[in-house]
This record gives sequence, C-alpha cells and structure tokens, in this order.
Amino acid sequence: MKQYDLIVVGAGASGLCAAIEAKKEARRRKKKLSILLIDKEKYPAKKILVTGNGKCNFANRNDSLSFYYGDKALIQAVFSRYPISQVPSFFLSIGVPAMDDGSGRLYPLSRKASGVADALITEAKVLGVDCVTEYTARDLRKTAEGYSVNDEYCSRALILATGSRAGEGFSDCRTFSFLQELNIACQPEIPALCGFALGSDYTRGLKGLRQICEIRLMGGGRQLHREIGEVQFNEKGVSGIPVMQASLVAGPVLQKKQELFLSLDFLPEIPLTDLVAALEKQARRCSAMPCERLFTAFLPKPLWLYALKAGGWSAAKPLPMEHSALQKLAKHMKFARWAVTGLTSPAQVMRGGADARALYHNLQVKNRENLYVCGEAVDVTGACGGYNLMWAFCSGRTAGGAAAAQLLDKQAGSSNNYAENQ
Ligand SMILES: Cc1cc2nc3c(=O)[nH]c(=O)nc-3n(C[C@H](O)[C@H](O)[C@H](O)COP(=O)(O)OP(=O)(O)OC[C@H]3O[C@@H](n4cnc5c(N)ncnc54)[C@H](O)[C@@H]3O)c2cc1C
Repeated sequence: MKQYDLIVVGAGASGLCAAIEAKKEARRRKKKLSILLIDKEKYPAKKILVTGNGKCNFANRNDSLSFYYGDKALIQAVFSRYPISQVPSFFLSIGVPAMDDGSGRLYPLSRKASGVADALITEAKVLGVDCVTEYTARDLRKTAEGYSVNDEYCSRALILATGSRAGEGFSDCRTFSFLQELNIACQPEIPALCGFALGSDYTRGLKGLRQICEIRLMGGGRQLHREIGEVQFNEKGVSGIPVMQASLVAGPVLQKKQELFLSLDFLPEIPLTDLVAALEKQARRCSAMPCERLFTAFLPKPLWLYALKAGGWSAAKPLPMEHSALQKLAKHMKFARWAVTGLTSPAQVMRGGADARALYHNLQVKNRENLYVCGEAVDVTGACGGYNLMWAFCSGRTAGGAAAAQLLDKQAGSSNNYAENQ
C-alpha cells in the first residue's frame, strides 16, 4: 500500500481546503507532511462548477450564525478559527478577486465558478498535495497504524470530505455508508434548498409564472418561516429562493409526517385595505365590463384568474359591488394557501450527516485519533447566499489544520492532545 501522512477523501470545496490548510500548517512549522487528495471525478470540485448557476456564489458579507442550521456551538467554533469575514481574503490570496452583487453575495470577478475551482486545485498542487482523480473510494478502514482506502493507500490520518448526494448527477455519493462503516453517529439526510410540491388544489395554470410574493410556511398552528422574494410557479408547485429557504425548515417537519401549509401573498407591497379599495374603484368604474382583464395591471393574469376562481367568481361577469365579496377576492390574492405535500428535486444541499455530538469542535471524530469529517458530510446546513460553500471552506480548513497539527505534534513527541484542548 502507498503510504501518506494524511489522506483527504473528496476533492470538493471542503476537501481541497482541508488539504491546503494541512500543507500550510506544516509549512508554518517548517515541517513536511505527505498528503493525498482523492476524487472519483476526472475534474475535482465538480459541484463547485454548478454553484450559483455556474457563477459560484462563494461567500457572503452578512455573516450571522442565524443563516445556519445545525449545532450552533460547533458552527461557532469553526467560524471562530476561520472567520466567515476572512473567506474573501483567503480567496484573494489564491488569486480569486470577488465582486459583490449589491446584496452582500460574493462571486468571482469573472463570474465563472470554474475560476474558484481552478484556484483551489492549483493552490493544492502548488503546495505539493498529491491528487488522484477518477478514483472512487469504496472501502475506508481503520488499520493498526491509521486508515486505509481500498487496501491501496494508507495514512496516519484521514479526512472524510465526500459531500452529499444533493444536485443533479451527484447521487452516487457514499458519505452515509462511510459514516456508518467508520462508526460515526449521523443524522438522517433530508433534501434542502429545493422546491415544494403542493396539494391537489394547486392550479397548474400558474406554471411558468414568476412573482415577487411574501411566503409564510405554517405548521402546527405556528408560522415556521416568512420571507419575501421571487416565487417560481411550476407544474407541481413552487420554487425560487424564498421557497428554497423555507425548505430548510419544511424538510424535518415533512419527515415527521406533520401537516404543512404555504400561504402566499401575491401583492406584499399593498395592504389588504388598499387592495379592497382598489377593487371597489375598478368595480364602480367598469360596472358593465367582464372582470377578466380588470386587474391585470396589479398582478399577472393567471394569478388574477386564480383569485377569481378561488373566490367563486366568474371572469366573464363584472366585478361584484359588495364590499364583502371584494374583500374575499382580495384575501385570495393576499392569503392564497396550499398544503405542502413534499419537496421537489433537485435539492442543492442535504441536511444531516455526521452528528455534531460525535465530533470535537475541531471536527475530529470523538475518541478516534486522526479521523476528521468536514463540509456537507457534517450535519450543518446553510441558507442560500454562499453560506454552504463558506461552511465547506471553513470546516475544511478547520479539519485540515487540526489534522496536520495533531500529526506534527505527535511527530515532535509532544504530549499535546489536540482533542482534549477543545
Ligand atoms: C446546483 C447547486 C448549486 C449550488 N449553489 C451554491 C452556491 O451558489 N453557494 C453555496 O454556498 N452553495 C451552493 N451549493 C451547495 C455547495 O455546492 C455544497 O454545499 C458544497 O459544494 C459542499 O462541499 P463539500 O466539499 O462538502 O462537498 P462537494 O463539493 O460535493 O465535494 C465532495 C467531493 O467528494 C467526491 N467524492 C464523493 N464520494 C467519493 C468517493 N467515494 N470517492 C472519491 N471521491 C468522492 C465528489 O466527487 C466531490 O468532488 C450548490 C449546490 C448545488 C447542487
């Protein structure tokens, strides 16, 4: 078997950062570590290429922990070692200048995800990391001296950075099998950052429409999520950024088979009373006209027709004159409500992964020398906006830095037990 000090399984966002940081830690100590990075794909970091619609939203200037789901103490510990605010300067140091889209989301100046992936791969190679591609890890084992991969490579330390099955074309990821084989407790995987399938009363006629809406996710008599943004209507239901954000909360509720409802306000900028007044004005002004086209400057015709139908009013008739009937119509525009029956694929991320309770705050598996997990393989998930990549980068650097420190401390005969210091 070919021997290394450290093997990183998975050369995606987190694995590349882990290998880079491990090499840097060795350099800082003027020591050497042999590191192997393996990936099943011909081009590592394949998932980075599809992020942000191929532009890669790799960071965000708004760095609140509230954008993350998972164990807050673990997340905080990782980001206190490698702060979110320093992600842009880390990338600048490897040749990736960032541009802000005006909302705090950062993209590479080229607006090409390949720029981010190329820079990480280049940096790993410059630092002397060995990269083996088109090589699938099938068998990860604990050995007397450390770990082995497919009985072909072995190392003193191992970092599992194999990500998740989320996204089209990534379903062959074996993270959960590895976690089980390595006996690491995990939380079940649940798709997230995806769309909603809605109940049978959902109108397919809305397919293809995009509208800025306020969405409210309701479950167990409580409001679970609220957000304004562009909702995309499709054959089965809805998607778009606000829906994707809501899916982070919806997934675990649906998994428990609890009821969920989505309430949509098609006109969040207009209060209900103003909307009713506008309808009354139109009703009076055009009292003999069919109402089919009387409100299409307020909202797209399919949504107006939906509200009329839901309010039990024919588009061929004039608008009703009674205040109560118009209020009912307005409510169907501001409180359209459907049951959420499921999540639709593809998801951008998966919740679940290595349980935070099984990990020290430096991402070493508890009571397991030299074994680490990082990136999406850990049960930490971020909102849309660059938060998942930032977790992948910072958790990868945490695991890589810690693995190198532990190896080098041992080499130096130091009694410093890294895990005990967490
Ligand atoms: C369509 C889409 C768009 C996204 N857009 C954004 C965005 O704009 N901003 C953002 O922050 N996040 C985005 N994400 C999420 C983000 O891409 C992931 O959270 C992040 O890539 C996770 O990093 P990772 O290193 O944990 O896993 P990955 O990047 O998936 O890397 C895992 C690597 O392990 C390799 N691997 C897996 N199994 C094996 C094996 N058995 N043997 C060898 N190699 C293996 C894989 O080939 C892969 O290269 C998006 C995701 C998708 C699907």
